[in-house]
Amino acid sequence: MEITKQIIADIKALAFKNKKDNATFFRQVAAKPPGKVDEAFQKLHEEVFSEVNCLDCGNCCKSLGPKLNSTDIRRISGALRIKPSEFEQKYLRMDEDDDFVFSTMPCVFLAEDNTCKIYEDRPRACREYPHTDQRKMHQVLDITLKNMSTCPAVFEIVERLKKVKI
Ligand code: SF4
Ligand code: SF4
Repeated sequence: MEITKQIIADIKALAFKNKKDNATFFRQVAAKPPGKVDEAFQKLHEEVFSEVNCLDCGNCCKSLGPKLNSTDIRRISGALRIKPSEFEQKYLRMDEDDDFVFSTMPCVFLAEDNTCKIYEDRPRACREYPHTDQRKMHQVLDITLKNMSTCPAVFEIVERLKKVKI
């Protein structure tokens, strides 16, 4: 699957267009056996991400703010050779849930070619995004529905999921 610039730019509108149908579909998925749902997502996650090049996109790094835990902060500040307190002051802010997030978006560590300047040390939330290969998908169905309007890969995974029997 080629993620064209057009799809990346239009992903919000694409997801919005089918908002009602997608919400209905997710309610149906929520009623399916959890193990089967995990299995179906896992298979489609691998399939779609083998076709998608995230470097053509970067939408998540441009618009979503990952949460950073204390381990992330220690690891990244160590890699940057600055103190955790300096890292927090320079790059982070507290969100409304009192979690640390990057103070600016697009992320300050996103390079022009969509690579991550701290890739080896990036926050855990960045490693795990978009969570479509995790166990207990039932727990993240709401966020997956939301992610359809940011991540073209999630959009495609869900579109393919609609065509398989869970
Ligand atoms: S730290 Fe890296 S992977 Fe995470 S949002 Fe920033 S650029 Fe993207
Ligand atoms: S994870 Fe999704 S939103 Fe992020 S770069 Fe890859 S395709 Fe784009």
